[in-house]
Amino acid sequence: MSYVQEVYQALVARNPGETEFHQAALEVLEALEPVVAARPEIQKNGLLERIVEPEKQIIFRVPWVDDAGCVRVNRGFRVQFNSAIGPYKGGLRFHPNVTLSIIKFLGFEQIFKNSLTGLPIGGGKGGSDFDPKGKSDREIMAFCQSFMTELSKYIGANTDVPAGDIGVGAREIGFMYGQYKRMKDLYEGVLTGKGITYGGSLARPEATGYGLVYFTQNMLAARGDSFKGKKVAISGSGNVALFAAQKATELGGTVVTLSDSTGWIHDPAGIDLAAVSEIKNVRRGRLSEYKTATSTYSTQGRVWQVPVDIALPCATQNELDANDAAMLIKNKVIAVAEGANMPSTPEAVAQFLDAKVLFGPAKAANAGGVSVSALEMSQNSLRLSWTFEEVDERLKGIMKGIYDAASAAAARYGHEDNLVVGANIAGFEKVAAAMLAQGVV
Ligand code: NDP
Repeated sequence: MSYVQEVYQALVARNPGETEFHQAALEVLEALEPVVAARPEIQKNGLLERIVEPEKQIIFRVPWVDDAGCVRVNRGFRVQFNSAIGPYKGGLRFHPNVTLSIIKFLGFEQIFKNSLTGLPIGGGKGGSDFDPKGKSDREIMAFCQSFMTELSKYIGANTDVPAGDIGVGAREIGFMYGQYKRMKDLYEGVLTGKGITYGGSLARPEATGYGLVYFTQNMLAARGDSFKGKKVAISGSGNVALFAAQKATELGGTVVTLSDSTGWIHDPAGIDLAAVSEIKNVRRGRLSEYKTATSTYSTQGRVWQVPVDIALPCATQNELDANDAAMLIKNKVIAVAEGANMPSTPEAVAQFLDAKVLFGPAKAANAGGVSVSALEMSQNSLRLSWTFEEVDERLKGIMKGIYDAASAAAARYGHEDNLVVGANIAGFEKVAAAMLAQGVV
């Protein structure tokens, strides 16, 4: 058995049932095979055994009282995975399907993603199985305050700086920031994605979606192509999906699909994004409310059955499987780039790579969000605010840097055009160098 296989087998035995974490770890470990073979010091220093084990995992009770006066109890998580190159950084997810396995897969991916940005941030992730859907603002606040009362013991501007993720947007960040400040008496940049009036960065809400489209632009440009005149399928209708849709449209693409957890819309004339934003962000409604002369709404099938040139999965993990990939390939898709974390199953990824579809893996393609979060940290430290244009320009530069680093690493190890291998290797190399320099800790 190879060193990589030994590490993977031990990880599965030590973390039984954590299927999402196993899946994320296997993808990274397999991509690292050629690096491990070329550099014996990695095995000698037990680097892989250490990198797959979180530095700390915190699980806590989150009690709160609902509007009917009933006591509710949720479970809170923070996994501080790796701090070799900077303070832990990664979002908080509030969704009923959150488990330790999901937080660990996200935290593990975050190590390499954050490294790829070129900025000094380590990897972490957290969240809760709390479901914000259908809750009043007061209930959301009660939950967020209770969650932060415990989490505040483990985070800080130089220790661990969480951000948003699924179910955690500006409202939740605001409530959590207020509670942190009250508990600690500290006005510090402990969270990113903050509102603009209390230390947030311009362009942070847009960053993941815009960054995804900038990354895709780089992939297309390498083949002399662009978004102009392309049909685009997007899944999800949250933060990432809507800003990706906006930027893709601005660049001349036509976005023809969006989805939520109950169904999806298809509008061949191009989706009216202002109407969707009003439904989702103002009325906090469902996509089923979207209606135009050319649109259809469906609860059957998936957005990937619509023939398009570019596909951007932006909802959740494992939402694009082998059948979906086969359908997209049959319909001659040119590029697929992941806005969500691990949205494509391993079988789907293998098909895209085999068919030579341009494929941008999440840890590279969706790193725009954490990049601008790191820029928010810099602005907080400097006590300055940059303009939207300044942040957006930096974001474009960072996404190009990530694309270049991933394609160069892929080529260096004989996997030309394979950005999955390239992103994993490029992200790993910096973290590995820092871990080797810092000794066995
Ligand atoms: P939001 O909560 O804003 O939106 C999530 C969207 O995905 C909603 O449309 C939601 O539908 C849909 N969705 C969530 N869970 C499921 C599910 N189990 N099945 C089907 N649809 C689902 O989250 P974000 O846009 O912030 O995050 C989307 C993805 O992007 C996640 O994978 C996240 O980890 C990743 N990401 C986010 C970053 C950020 O900056 N926000 C940064 C990097 C990655 P519904 O409204 O019905 O719940």
